[in-house]
Formats: sequence, C-alpha cells, structure tokens
Amino acid sequence: MNMQTLTESRLDPASAVVNEICAAGEPWVKKVNKGQTFRIVDAEGNQAVDTLFFNANHALERYSATDTICRQNRLYLTSGSKLYSNFGNVMLTIVADTCGRHDTLGGACAAESNTVRYALEKYPMHSCRDNFLHALAHDPLCEQLGMGKRDLPSNINFFMNVPVTEQGELEFVDGISAPGKYVEMRAEMDVMVLISNCPQLNNPCNAYNPTPIRLLIWY
Ligand SMILES: [Zn+2]
Repeated sequence: MNMQTLTESRLDPASAVVNEICAAGEPWVKKVNKGQTFRIVDAEGNQAVDTLFFNANHALERYSATDTICRQNRLYLTSGSKLYSNFGNVMLTIVADTCGRHDTLGGACAAESNTVRYALEKYPMHSCRDNFLHALAHDPLCEQLGMGKRDLPSNINFFMNVPVTEQGELEFVDGISAPGKYVEMRAEMDVMVLISNCPQLNNPCNAYNPTPIRLLIWY
C-alpha cells in the first residue's frame, strides 16, 4: 500500500502555454485538450487540491472514482494511474509524480461536513463545495456545458494523505507532499479541469494553512 513510484518530468516550465497561480482557497477552471500535458505544482507544500475532470464536449461524462479504483484495483493515484470516466473511458493518464500518492476517497470539504466533523460554528467557513458551486454557477466554460449543482461527482484530492486503516477507516493526516512537488498528466480526451484549492482550516490535509498552487499546460 505504501509503494510509491516517483517519476520526474522532462517538460520545461518555460515552454508551457499556460503557467498560472491559483491562490490559496480559490477555484480554477481550464480546458485541457487531448494530447496536452497538465501539471499541478504544490508550490508551498502540504496543500490539498480537490480536482474534478469533465469531458469538455459532453459534461455528462466525468471523472469517476468508482471506475478509477475498481478498474485498477488501487485506492491511491500515482505515476501510471489512469483516470477513468463514468463511461469507462480513460480521461487522463498520470505521467509524472514527485509526491507519490494522491487520495481518491476523502471527497471535498463542505459546510455540512465541517459542521458534523468539527463544530456548529464552522458552518459559514469557506469550503471546497462552495468553490465548486461558485465555479459551476459563474465560470463561462461551465455555463457553456450547461452544468449545475447536480454535476458534482466525487473528486480527487491531489497531494492529500488519507490513509485507510486496518479496520477500513479513513484518516486525514499530515501530508507527504513538500514545496515544489508536482503531479503531471496527459489528457486522453478534451477535458475541463475544475479545481478547488482547498480552504480547509480544521484538519491537517493542508497543514491548517492553505497555500497557492501553480498550474501548467504544455502542447
Ligand atoms: Zn476542501
């Protein structure tokens, strides 16, 4: 379970066509075309990057945690992992990874889960679900695809450490990532990326300190 495959990329950030910062706690939406390479950099370390992928031409096809886990018999994502859609197609393949493990089970933080897990007064705190809903309601790409609240499936948590215990329970623990670690994937179809750069302050998924991430795309 702890087997990690660390694979570095040969791509040079200087030749990327997109090279953007997503501030701590903010959403980010972008299209990545088939054949392009997409990299997420954990700029300051221990950040949780809640991520969803949709078919950019037909949003009813989207990343499926169930298909991704079952078809590969693996709970964690790393180099060589394929990200499957709910239609059974490979959406992206992870081609480089210097962190070594990414979560498929923890889901996104929300007002409701913050209230249940921590305290009633956590209800108004900013959450990943807020970010996703905000992007779905206001981002032109999401609008173009006719997306809404019902289009939110279970997400990937890049860089987040959610070990499964012997008893089958999930734990949110301190990350195994560090400043500058990255994960890189090749798009196998045109995809729309929807990210919430997690604003969580109540658990160690981002070291109680949300930080910026860098996002790069190469042709
Ligand atoms: Zn979150």
